Amino acid sequence: MATKLLMLTAICRLIVIVGLTLNPNELVLTRTELQLSFNRTHITSAVSDFGKLTTHEPAAVLHPSSSLDIANLVKLAYESPQGFAVSARGHGHSINGQAAANNGVVVEMSWRSAAPVPEVNEKLMYVDVWGGELWIDVLKSTLAYGLAPKSWTDYLYLSVGGTISNAGISGQAFNHGPQISNVHEVDVVTGRGELVTCAEDRNSELFHAVMGGLGQFGIITRARIALEPSPRMVRWIRVLYSNFSGFTHDQEYLISLHDQPNSLKFDYVEGFVIVDEGLINNWRSSFFSPSNPVKISSISSGGNVLYCLEITKNYYENSDPETVNQEVKALLKKLNYIPATVFTTDLPYIDFLDRVHKAELKLRSKGLWDVPHPWLNLFVPKSRIEDFDRGVFKGILGNKTSGPILIYPMNKNKWDEETSVVTPNEDVFYLVALLRSALQNGEETLTLEHLSNENRRILNFCEDRKIGIKQYLPHYTTQQEWMDHYGEKWPQIYKRKMEFDPRHILATGQRIFEPSFSSVMKSW
Ligand code: FAD
Repeated sequence: MATKLLMLTAICRLIVIVGLTLNPNELVLTRTELQLSFNRTHITSAVSDFGKLTTHEPAAVLHPSSSLDIANLVKLAYESPQGFAVSARGHGHSINGQAAANNGVVVEMSWRSAAPVPEVNEKLMYVDVWGGELWIDVLKSTLAYGLAPKSWTDYLYLSVGGTISNAGISGQAFNHGPQISNVHEVDVVTGRGELVTCAEDRNSELFHAVMGGLGQFGIITRARIALEPSPRMVRWIRVLYSNFSGFTHDQEYLISLHDQPNSLKFDYVEGFVIVDEGLINNWRSSFFSPSNPVKISSISSGGNVLYCLEITKNYYENSDPETVNQEVKALLKKLNYIPATVFTTDLPYIDFLDRVHKAELKLRSKGLWDVPHPWLNLFVPKSRIEDFDRGVFKGILGNKTSGPILIYPMNKNKWDEETSVVTPNEDVFYLVALLRSALQNGEETLTLEHLSNENRRILNFCEDRKIGIKQYLPHYTTQQEWMDHYGEKWPQIYKRKMEFDPRHILATGQRIFEPSFSSVMKSW
């Protein structure tokens, strides 16, 4: 193995030194050994992401057949004098080129041939999955055993490594914590090219570093994810509010039930803001049925903004339907929504979890999926959410949103402080997700320029009013902004970088650390 690596390093040096005059046989050797692809189609597909806002081209793409391939590649980058960037790309669903490796190598983690099949341990209730596995496939494989992961994202066509490099949140996070709170163990290729297994009690610094680590400290090749018995069905309920404090009061009440093991609670708590009526059935998930008994415009909202609480109750093979009805009724009774605005539907658990994909297919068929997405995701402390409502939902956004706006609270004690994620310094904080699509041929308010300006105004508003937000899926362009983002955690993040990726090889698309090597892959 050592000889092989030495040989590869030598080849890399040759490439760097002689550039395109490299002996083609040696280049072929490099490609074969590491399955590097210089194919235009592969490179073009590695450039794009869901945001469609950036274009950073890699020089090559790796389709790994094992963790070892990835370790060899990173070791090559680490040991060669000039170095080059290496970024794992999960499913490319970032917004701002976070999975890019300008002039370096993108590792296509979701390349099918790489993935060992998920291995479920029924007794210990966990599943071992490849880092590039999509959550939809994790779910399908665990459902075969009547089990399912506990914590989700709203959309399942994202990779395991991609979401746990951020946190992975949805309406279950108030109860189970983010996805990173439900990972037992990971295999990681560090920026030194070492393959390390880590967990809470084994190489714990690396384990905590890669949880929410934005790909900075290692490439996750395997994750062990906690499972629970899978519900069979879901009762999905939406109720409307015209009063923001009533809405947040009820959301906060519902998430406070997490620490009362024997009390009734909903299994999922989210919500969204309805600024313009057209979006009541937004693309993300629509089920306000045509037979909707309430005419939305007939609800006086005093400021034209409505808020929709979205909750679910799971039920199981052996659940008694009457008990489910009674439990839901008892929980709803505690809430103060507008009477007669209860929308309910029952559906299989997998259909509920996969709801956004259905919307995706519809949008794709209309050509509305592959458009720029200047999304902005913020964690807002509970104490300032009313200010945010006044300034943003009822202020900056006017009466046009151009996409769904999610809002839901989470309990900070479900987040492990040792991980690399930063959240506001309050026991409860909200996710506010502005999930907007830019359309070229639409009204002025739908253009990329307009939406980007609005995002800037929102960020400026938060800064001016000292709202104390933290960006989720953060995007900054200067190191000072990253230092401000991490705040007190910055020294720890910096130390972790020095320890696990001292040459700043990994995930350079995040733009947190400047690469400490010249961009040599250009010559390839
Ligand atoms: P990529 O975009 O490919 O990569 C993201 C970052 O992670 C990059 O820096 C990359 O280098 C790094 N990375 C990727 N794989 C690995 C790995 N194996 N090891 C180490 N680093 C790695 N997020 C939520 O939390 N909740 C949601 O409900 C949610 N819904 C979404 C819905 C849609 C339609 C979209 C487009 C995104 C949504 N997201 C959500 C955001 C999503 O979780 C992140 O964008 C995530 O990074 C996407 O995963 P990916 O596999 O596409 O990652």
